[in-house]
Amino acid sequence: MKKIAILGASGSIGTTTLAIIKENPKKFKVVAISVYSNTSLLKQLLNDFPSIQLVGVKSLQEISSYILDYPNVKFYEGNEGLNQVATCDCDIVVNALVGFVGLLPTIQALNAKKDVALANKETLVVAGKMVMDLAKQNNVHIYPMDSEHSAIFQCLEKNNPIRKVILTASGGPFFHYSLKEVENVPVEKALAHPNWKMGKKITIDCATMMNKAFEIVEAKWLFNLELDQIEVVIHPQSKIHSMIEFEDGSIKAQLGISSMRIPISYALSYPKRIKNVCASLSFLEKQTFEFYPVDKHRFEAIELAYEGLKRQGTYFAIMNAANEEAVQMYLNHEIHFGRIIEIVKETLNACPFENKLTLENVIKADDLARTYVKGLKK
Ligand code: MG
Repeated sequence: MKKIAILGASGSIGTTTLAIIKENPKKFKVVAISVYSNTSLLKQLLNDFPSIQLVGVKSLQEISSYILDYPNVKFYEGNEGLNQVATCDCDIVVNALVGFVGLLPTIQALNAKKDVALANKETLVVAGKMVMDLAKQNNVHIYPMDSEHSAIFQCLEKNNPIRKVILTASGGPFFHYSLKEVENVPVEKALAHPNWKMGKKITIDCATMMNKAFEIVEAKWLFNLELDQIEVVIHPQSKIHSMIEFEDGSIKAQLGISSMRIPISYALSYPKRIKNVCASLSFLEKQTFEFYPVDKHRFEAIELAYEGLKRQGTYFAIMNAANEEAVQMYLNHEIHFGRIIEIVKETLNACPFENKLTLENVIKADDLARTYVKGLKK
């Protein structure tokens, strides 16, 4: 029986993780969760999962009306809540937080010698080397919950080095649009991803391909790759979730229907697989597998990722913070779609860059970049 703690239990990855736990009561038990401000869902989760003993929330005041109904559950708020969940008595911590806020709890979990199932890609984007070194020092594992990285992880062979990884990208809902056409697309259209059902932030990141840019960085650190070992190809059907090429030229791909249930359950149950996670992908039905190169002028985020991997330091802390703020502004209808990537580039040019990757420098760079983007609003 694996004891599981979930950071970000009320989001898309969090609720899917809970569904898998519920379907496999002999394998898994959820012992701790954090939710941000979705307190109505929290009450339901506490009733559905009586094994939960520890909860992190945004504010204890918001749940004061029913906190006494659960005398066996310990409640904590704010960053202390995330820290308590990340370091509780469990076998694996699922980090399904969205954004930079996921970094510290990952570090806390690794320092507490917990394995981490990582859906929070920003952890590796802003501090990849530091986080991977920390996992090594503490002799614990980071299991990818991102579908592309799970695909690569599933294809790897212990004693065979790889020539390269091929990350597949759907291209998002605007793959066929020109730069001009995409400039003013409304929020509702950007939120309608053709293949994957995900949270709002990551869906917008897919439309700008910032998500794929971050996944390049994530792949670099997770699998210890050189820049020229990471290739991106557009595969609009999202059936091949990524591939690796070995030194002899042989290529292995991981395929399946587009569902996060596979990467999530594999990270939880590695090295074993769980029965009946997903329906079959039928090759007898008409299936099309298309591949296109990435148009670097159209999707500038990809170029920024390769540039950032050359410079490292606090580059990605700035890039990520600017993107988080710009995406929020777009979701609030304060800027048009085309401005997101412009704001990221402006912020990278404007904010001071530090060569040295330390937690202190990363937090400072994140803060400065957010202040800069908020200043642009006026
Ligand atoms: Mg992904």
